[in-house]
Amino acid sequence: MFDQERSSIVLSVLVGLWLIFAIAEWLFSAGYRKSPRTGRWIRHISMISVGALILAVMIPGGAIAAALWAQTESVGVFNFFTLPLVWTYLLTWIIYDLMIYLQHRAFHVFPMLWRLHAVHHSDTSIDLSTGIRFHPVEIVLSMLFKVFIAVGLGAPPEAIAIYELILSSMALFNHADFRLPDGFERALRWLVVTPPMHRIHHSDRRVETDSNYGNALSAWDRLFGTYTDRPMAELNIGLSRWREAEDQRLSRLLRMPFRKDW
Ligand SMILES: [Zn+2]
Repeated sequence: MFDQERSSIVLSVLVGLWLIFAIAEWLFSAGYRKSPRTGRWIRHISMISVGALILAVMIPGGAIAAALWAQTESVGVFNFFTLPLVWTYLLTWIIYDLMIYLQHRAFHVFPMLWRLHAVHHSDTSIDLSTGIRFHPVEIVLSMLFKVFIAVGLGAPPEAIAIYELILSSMALFNHADFRLPDGFERALRWLVVTPPMHRIHHSDRRVETDSNYGNALSAWDRLFGTYTDRPMAELNIGLSRWREAEDQRLSRLLRMPFRKDW
């Protein structure tokens, strides 16, 4: 019951954010969505649903279930220290965000992982729906990694649930195709990844693709030297290898990592 309640709260927050961002995209488009919204939504929602379904079968409960297990078995770093709860939650978030930053870099470095992640980058538009466009195998690998972190940390399941919600919310936000007032965006970027910062990551110039990896905190890119402040020229979104309209079909996207013609 509790799990069901939690899932419906998370889903309601994400659907609410989706609608707010969709309205903002409609009113203040930054101009990076090049194909009709309806087709994109259907394709990307279908793709994430396939991933969610496989996850539900393979890793039921995901990282939250793993955290519950760690809690009952008293394993993981946080079970050896008694910290004020607020610190445990804050540290869980910061460590998780750093780990996701590192995982994202790994997906760019290792050729097999890049083939999976390229499905996300092959989008020739960028809008909030790009934030859920991930190949199901990438979704599964990413969840396995999060399970290891959850167990290693021994973080409270609620802290993991909050982090998962922030991760998904930030993915919708930083892919969203809306304009923000310049001064506000520059100030916000000192703390979190903003749409103009993440858009550079979707440039087809490899040096820009391999930068701005952060999900929530912008600090990791600045700290590890992967930060790009502004694109070197006008942004061309996508990957030069996959620019045919055909490449954007769902069946093709699902097969893309396994194709022989890379
Ligand atoms: Zn990427």
